[in-house]
Amino acid sequence: MSIVLDGKATSNQIKEELAVQVTEIKNAGKRPPHLAAVLVGNDGASLTYVGSKVRSCERIGYDSTLIKLEDTITQEALINTIDKLNNDPLLDGFIVQLPLPKHIDEEAVLHAIEPSKDVDGFHPTNFGKMALGMETFIPATPFGIMELLKRYALNISGKHAVVIGRSHIVGRPMSILLSEKGNPGNATVTLTHSRTQNLAAITKEADIIVSALGVPNFVTADMVKQDAIIIDVGITRVPDANHPKGYVIVGDVAYDEVKDKASYITPVPGGVGPMTIAMLLQNTMLAYQRNQN
Ligand code: NAD
Repeated sequence: MSIVLDGKATSNQIKEELAVQVTEIKNAGKRPPHLAAVLVGNDGASLTYVGSKVRSCERIGYDSTLIKLEDTITQEALINTIDKLNNDPLLDGFIVQLPLPKHIDEEAVLHAIEPSKDVDGFHPTNFGKMALGMETFIPATPFGIMELLKRYALNISGKHAVVIGRSHIVGRPMSILLSEKGNPGNATVTLTHSRTQNLAAITKEADIIVSALGVPNFVTADMVKQDAIIIDVGITRVPDANHPKGYVIVGDVAYDEVKDKASYITPVPGGVGPMTIAMLLQNTMLAYQRNQN
């Protein structure tokens, strides 16, 4: 029987802590932290993510701005918008929701964000600092996973962690953070990806698996060692006519069969997703504090 790592409850706790800080800030007569989100186009999943980020800001007393742009916007016009946000003294941080339309160079856009406002932590300056273990904005999803491990006091020091997926926003930063000196940290990390051979043989040796590939039910019980810690980052919308929305959200892990083997496991939804939002808000508080000093 495994223990569920409740990302929803933990994220609510973090948001309550941040809300207390916001009340103190407002009581001192100062403006609250301000986060903006740029959304290009009308992708359903992106609208949902951005919507919940904005609502979370409102819930804890931050100012928030949603900038919605047509999916026909040129790269130049988008970068002009980013420049305005970079230069707005009353804005502490902002995110550009990914993915962007195909005609826009995602890298060029992310690199146009002023690093001191890059609360997603995707800019090379912030990514570099993270890799060097310096204080910076840590990408919210891996940051949320580290915070979840910390709040559940899970000791991963010296353990074998296997990360599935090498994206710049989840898998790769995750592999760096897990191996970093610290608590949680100090793990021995194997970073696996689409070209990895004999993946199951590797995951079977893992004390902790972080799965971030986006293939529903990919990690099955036979790939998991008894009592492993299982972190499921995957979010895939699978069509389901029986559901009012017409789809269900499915993780990378075959939860029902893996939960009986794992010592700890994150559910989908209610695991890593809510933690990602909480850590974005945490990064925004850091940006605010720096902006005030
Ligand atoms: P991505 O598509 O950029 O990367 C997927 C990675 O998986 C790639 O590195 C690829 O090499 C690897 N991969 C693909 N097939 C594989 C295979 N058969 N075996 C091993 N590795 C394989 O995805 P991403 O942006 O990192 O997102 C991954 C998943 O996490 C998606 O479902 C996404 O929706 C979800 N996600 C969730 C959150 C959250 O807040 N919970 C945040 C970001 C992403």
